[in-house]
Amino acid sequence: LNRRLAGMGTTIFAEMSALATATGSINLGQGFPDTDGPEEVREAAVRALRESRGNQYPPGPGIPELRQAVAEHQQRFYGLAYDPDTEVLVTAGATEAIAAALLALLEPGDEVIALEPFYDSYAACIAMAGATRVPLTLRAPDFRPDLDELRTLITPRTRLLLINTPHNPTGTVLTADELTTIAGLAVEHDLLVITDEVYEHLVFGAAHHPIAALPGMRERTVAISSAGKTFSFTGWKVGWVTASPALVSAVRTAKQYLTYVSAGPFQYAVAEALRLPGTYFDTFREDLLRKRDLLADGLSAAGFRVFNPEGTYFITTDITPLGETDGIEFCRALPERCGVVAIPNAVFYDDADAGRSLVRFTFCKKDEVLAEAVSRLRRR
Ligand code: PMP
Ligand code: GLN
Repeated sequence: LNRRLAGMGTTIFAEMSALATATGSINLGQGFPDTDGPEEVREAAVRALRESRGNQYPPGPGIPELRQAVAEHQQRFYGLAYDPDTEVLVTAGATEAIAAALLALLEPGDEVIALEPFYDSYAACIAMAGATRVPLTLRAPDFRPDLDELRTLITPRTRLLLINTPHNPTGTVLTADELTTIAGLAVEHDLLVITDEVYEHLVFGAAHHPIAALPGMRERTVAISSAGKTFSFTGWKVGWVTASPALVSAVRTAKQYLTYVSAGPFQYAVAEALRLPGTYFDTFREDLLRKRDLLADGLSAAGFRVFNPEGTYFITTDITPLGETDGIEFCRALPERCGVVAIPNAVFYDDADAGRSLVRFTFCKKDEVLAEAVSRLRRR
């Protein structure tokens, strides 16, 4: 393993899901639902397979039907107009979009300012690009970005800002004001912005705002999303990028040599998913809100300090009130102690102290599974 990837051996998600399997625990670690997405979308994938649509290499940028559906989705939810031919790129999940964007846009030695705690692939991909990450740390109890601090982090080497809203793992949803300030700094310093919006439809009360809609941002923003979270098909690995033709072209150049193309038949199905009626999105959100409250109440009752998320399907907790201090040790021991798996937030920080006592639980599970997990945690 080269120096750039030193210390990045196995992702925390793989480690903790393996532990869940080995111990037969309830897995509230890795974020994947235990109920698959809509039947009609699964049927659309089967139909594509049977009708030989997408069983051979689909077009590099993605099938036209899906690029069109992504463009319509951006128009329908945000009033943003993208040309499906030149401004949309289909990727192998958001993960590939993040990798391709960073590899395509960074020079070795560039600095990337990213919200910390960060989703683990950000650190690895910035490292693979030979760039340096500069964290803007979100701190308990509010986990809001300090935008005066952001200003001080910008140097002549800063090339891009990498944001994630709704934010994994804290559940923070950036406000219109926060995004306006971030956008102003990007314009002032001529920075690119990569925005990871995979949880765009998982918001409770707060509204999701795409930064690309703000003045001066359309031409400097690479927006990333995915079918994994919105439609509960994390195994399909269908994601997409929307950006200006120049930025899409750059990201496509890198994508060509990573995967070349992404899973064909699933692209037809996701095109249909993106056109589901508003009731799908509303019901999905209402279900998740109920689950959030169920888990948040249960974790509080079990003695955790709970930071209620405005978005995503994760709850960050502090284990200090339980008399515990180290989230990594806590999560390694928890399966043996009570048959529940969680993720230590410390692995998402450069500044491990900032996240040492924080632990993340997902609530994208059946109500009865959440209830059982809570009762186990109470007996812990
Ligand atoms: N970004 C964030 C913030 C995530 O939590 C995840 C995990 N779903 C991804 C990207 C990766 O998305 P995908 O599964 O579509 O590759
Ligand atoms: N995004 C998911 C999470 O944060 C995990 C995805 C993965 O395993 N890479 O739990």
